[in-house]
Amino acid sequence: MVSGMLAEHLVYSGALAILAGMLSFRFAGRDSSWIIIACAYLPDLDKIGDWILNSIGFTVLFEGHTIHHGTFHNIAALVIFSVMIAFLLHPLGIRFADSLIFAAIGFGAHLFEDALVYPSNYMYLWPFTREKLGLDWLPMGGEESYHADFFHIANTEVLLIGLILLLIVIVVRTRVEGSGWVRWYLPGNFFRRETGTGSEEEKRPG
Ligand SMILES: [Zn+2]
Repeated sequence: MVSGMLAEHLVYSGALAILAGMLSFRFAGRDSSWIIIACAYLPDLDKIGDWILNSIGFTVLFEGHTIHHGTFHNIAALVIFSVMIAFLLHPLGIRFADSLIFAAIGFGAHLFEDALVYPSNYMYLWPFTREKLGLDWLPMGGEESYHADFFHIANTEVLLIGLILLLIVIVVRTRVEGSGWVRWYLPGNFFRRETGTGSEEEKRPG
């Protein structure tokens, strides 16, 4: 049973979100990159998807198979989930294009992170090819030998590389924008339609 990459997905997706959010704010004046972090574990729903659907009375088959680990680890699932999320968040005040892009980045980041660690594990490019792919750039060996040696939630090497990346983007964004960017990751600001800039200054007395 695979329980790998538990903490790593959060750290890598967090780093990517801060970077993507910085670009979004620079070019569009708003930042909904929290969606990337919210989607960090979405593909792994295929571990429990069949169980959830069964418990409410459904069985869904993909190519004659029930949902199993790997079913959502491809670009077809990426597109379907991103469109669903964009429709779900639109009535709550998030622009359709924003949630579509950030959900696709978040979902895609998970697939990329899995590919970084595991050799030829999933059919990432399905339906274009059924070939099982993997980059295996980070030296972890096969999925069987992935070892979550850091309190059972992460592999120390993979986690350390992610934490360094996270630290770098935090420093870069703080140098560019000051510390105010943190506000975009506070849940109270997720569904605000306005950019939120300037409100902090106005509240200050004097
Ligand atoms: Zn996964």
